[in-house]
Amino acid sequence: MYSVRRRRFLKGISDAILTFAFGRFGANYALAELKQPRVAFGGIGIECSTYSRIRTHMEDFEILKDEALAGSQRFAFLKKYSTPFIPTVVAQAVPGGPVDKATYDAIKAEFLAGLRALLPLDGLFLPMHGAMFVDGLLDAEGDWMEATRKVVGPNCLMSASYDLHGNVSQRVIDNLDMLSAFRTAPHIDKEETMERACNMLVHCLNEHVRPTLIWAPIPVLMPGERSSTEWQPGKRLWAQLPKLNQEPGVLDVSLLVGYVWADEPRSTACAVVTGTAPATEKKIAVDLAQQYWDARREFQFGTVAGTIDDCIQQALKARTHPVILADSGDNPTGGGSGDRAEILQELLRYKVQDTVFAGITDRPATDACYKAGVGATIDLSIGATLDPLGSRPVKALAKVVFLLSSSDLRLREAVVQIEGVTLVLSAQRRPYHDIADFTRLGLKPLAYKIIVVKSGYLSPELAPLANPSLMALSDGAINQDIIHLPKNRFRKPTYPFVEDLDYTPRAIASAQRRRESSAVDRSCCGIVVGG
Ligand SMILES: [Zn+2]
Repeated sequence: MYSVRRRRFLKGISDAILTFAFGRFGANYALAELKQPRVAFGGIGIECSTYSRIRTHMEDFEILKDEALAGSQRFAFLKKYSTPFIPTVVAQAVPGGPVDKATYDAIKAEFLAGLRALLPLDGLFLPMHGAMFVDGLLDAEGDWMEATRKVVGPNCLMSASYDLHGNVSQRVIDNLDMLSAFRTAPHIDKEETMERACNMLVHCLNEHVRPTLIWAPIPVLMPGERSSTEWQPGKRLWAQLPKLNQEPGVLDVSLLVGYVWADEPRSTACAVVTGTAPATEKKIAVDLAQQYWDARREFQFGTVAGTIDDCIQQALKARTHPVILADSGDNPTGGGSGDRAEILQELLRYKVQDTVFAGITDRPATDACYKAGVGATIDLSIGATLDPLGSRPVKALAKVVFLLSSSDLRLREAVVQIEGVTLVLSAQRRPYHDIADFTRLGLKPLAYKIIVVKSGYLSPELAPLANPSLMALSDGAINQDIIHLPKNRFRKPTYPFVEDLDYTPRAIASAQRRRESSAVDRSCCGIVVGG
């Protein structure tokens, strides 16, 4: 009896002391100390080219919620934490054109309703991409973060994971507490990055720490194909991040390329540092920004690149095989439509042999193959079905050689033979970047002299096969000739769109930190903490 009373008394004292010492925020954490923190997760991920004429609708998203989300392989790593992560909604789509506003509003409303049902929340993990564009809405992720913050309240810790091709804005930074971005391109650290975001979130919740987010925008925009972490200068720029992450008071260091095919004011590279040591964070952010700026003229394609015609001629002359030829302007994993047939046209004009092309998205042509059946020879119009204004179709006599078995019409894929070209047709937009994408269609990529894929830099599975690799600088929604992109109405001055820019890196703190510093510590970070 005595001990129970004594414990209650001590708990009352401890709450009172913490409330006195840390205000309301501290009191909340004192209470949270007695129970497991309540942490939810959910978000939206897509990369949208504003130069694409196609739109991303609800049916283009894979939407996982509740139990399906909890059981998904992508988030299986969350089970390792003793703190449970409560699933809400995660929406994910193949990169493409802008998201239509009604679709975005509906997904956002469902996500926010899910959060409201879980309140109060101590923490939230947001698995995002960062380069979403919504029709009629600039800074879509900023809108998403701000709306989320309004629901979860100022005391909930929000940690986001980002693609390094995501675009950050002051609104994104102001509403988040922590951010981790991929450190590899091609991306081989997707799970590792989400883990870093969750590790810091759990750490801060357990240690009752509210970190500071500091970022330094860099007015440089490079296509991913010039800023891979596999070659210089990307290799050395990103290689230093794990070491910088070890500095005292630093929880995460991220360096983002940004997404060049989004005509938005926020599109830019940046350094983002999360931690509890603002002076160190500022120094790291400014230093990384300066290094990136100084390296801006070094960014180059990591492979031989040329016109479609140049690349096909080089492929025909190659003495080693397979040549892998990437149709970079129409790469669906970068936001390309995936329906363009210019390279097919040229392959047929050159009468190439022993060539596999995977693949072109064309629902009517795919359906025609299924209707005709394996073994049939039919006249096909191939390409330009998603964006008829973007390119012209190719007319050809094709023999149907394989049909993928699928009860879902959207998942149909057909293989046809057109002279020396084995061509894959798909009903919906998708990449062919893994070996399994070929083998499940009965194709052995190494059996061909030339492999054509819609890709930028090659995927980790295809890159080791290429002997050599060639990148066609083809037209499309993600044309690599960025300085000639049309419709640049909102873009701020950035290199290489503007050659002569003056730039001195400035580190900017999150709104949370700015509020704290003006109220508590006027000697520390002002609004701009960099020089
Ligand atoms: Zn990316």
